[in-house]
Amino acid sequence: MARKDDCIFCKIVAGDIPSDVVYEDDRVLAFRDVNPMMPTHVLVIPKEHYDNIADGVSDEDMVAVMRAVGEVARIEGICESGFRMLSNTNDDARQSVHHLHVHVLGGAPMNDGDPSVQ
Ligand code: AMP
Repeated sequence: MARKDDCIFCKIVAGDIPSDVVYEDDRVLAFRDVNPMMPTHVLVIPKEHYDNIADGVSDEDMVAVMRAVGEVARIEGICESGFRMLSNTNDDARQSVHHLHVHVLGGAPMNDGDPSVQ
């Protein structure tokens, strides 16, 4: 498993930093975001280190991450109500942790700048 010494998410995969795990399999770890933006805010990451979605992700890891997004949504009970997945990549998107991660967000209607939505 490729790891980067200075990567906080690699440290979470290694168990050196605690996390609130929602789902795990051979290739993927999903854990709650420490600073949640929604009632459900889970990060799905490959255990292998990739800087972002454009960093030569293997087909196996790509599939595993996408499948895990669905698993997390099922576990969290937000499939029917709806959810959003997104992955910030590099500076223009304000990626702050440079280990590929997909945010899974849901559990309430999203505002998207609409003042009629709380
Ligand atoms: P991004 O800005 O898209 O790179 O997202 C990085 C996310 O990682 C942010 O939402 C942070 O709140 C979250 N985060 C950073 N450190 C941790 C941690 N130790 N455990 C859980 N989430 C974290």
